[in-house]
Amino acid sequence: MAQAQMRRAIESGVPDNQQFLHPLLKKNYGNWKYHDRPRPGVLHHVAHGGDEVWTVRAGTQRQMDVFTIRRLCDIADKYAEGHVRFTIRSNIEFMVSAEAKVAPLIAELEKNGFPVGGTGNSVSMIAHTQGWLHCDIPGTDASGVVKALMDELIDEFRREEMPNRVHLSTSCCEINCGGQADIAIIVQHTKPPKINHDLVANVCERPAVVARCPVAAIRPALVNGKPSLEVDEKKCICCGACYPPCPPMQINDPEHSKLAIWVGGKNSNARAKPTFMKMVAAGLPNNPPRWPEVAEVVKRILHVYKADARPWERLSDWVDRIGWPRFFERTELPFTKYLIDDWRGARVNLNASTHIRF
Ligand code: SF4
Ligand code: SF4
Repeated sequence: MAQAQMRRAIESGVPDNQQFLHPLLKKNYGNWKYHDRPRPGVLHHVAHGGDEVWTVRAGTQRQMDVFTIRRLCDIADKYAEGHVRFTIRSNIEFMVSAEAKVAPLIAELEKNGFPVGGTGNSVSMIAHTQGWLHCDIPGTDASGVVKALMDELIDEFRREEMPNRVHLSTSCCEINCGGQADIAIIVQHTKPPKINHDLVANVCERPAVVARCPVAAIRPALVNGKPSLEVDEKKCICCGACYPPCPPMQINDPEHSKLAIWVGGKNSNARAKPTFMKMVAAGLPNNPPRWPEVAEVVKRILHVYKADARPWERLSDWVDRIGWPRFFERTELPFTKYLIDDWRGARVNLNASTHIRF
């Protein structure tokens, strides 16, 4: 009888990145002597063996059509030895093995509308969530906010003149993929969901919706003889968590879904410990296509930080040093009791279990 054969493993994860690396990066992997930045947007790595690599970083719009991707690949083939990589915050990087290739590559990128920058102490490209393009619950278009804001901040992307690097992010709902950042723009619902009772029984798994609510504000109810749900509006914190599992709990609203700005988030352990961000501006109009009110607040915070922070202070370090009262004085943002909330009672009061309450 034939010997049983081992079944081959089915791999379905990220492929091994080594096969895609620029040959000099592969050859010198983990063996670099030093690196520097000859100009904003360009990294220069020198290996122990003497090899040198110049990396040119450019900003992209993240949501890309196939023509843009083809154009970026054509630029890579013609000007950058056929290699690209997408890196942090939707930037694209091209690697070349000779300094003489850097200037023509930069000129070609800029000519095609891809600004070069985003290294060192610059304002990075804004990390953002999917928005209207391919998510089912967004209250705003994160990609649109990013485009509008980066149009205004492009000079700070191209220069390295901030006290430290500045990461920005946007998020189109309150509860899911919005990330921590030095400055984050996040949707803020201000009214409890409006329930379409005709649809709840057909569309929603009611216990799942009840369990989603962090403050136990949702109860099953019979409305017009049909099974539905009701919301205790005094408890509801307008988080929108009930909307993804139950679209009839409509919370997005052209007028009452606003934008809020949070500052001081940091994910890394570099130089200081990670920090949580805090809300410093709320109730800003969700005003496409340019979101001018949001841009005004973000620019104000950035300019005061740039002028006032010491070298290498991240935004959270700067706020730590000057204190929140001075932050609001210097940025001239109005302070209300709802801002910079660090209510520790949340740990015990908010619903942290999956139990269903009736
Ligand atoms: S942040 Fe929310 S709405 Fe935006 S893409 Fe993520 S889950 Fe969807
Ligand atoms: S999940 Fe959020 S929005 Fe929905 S009822 Fe509960 S608190 Fe209100």
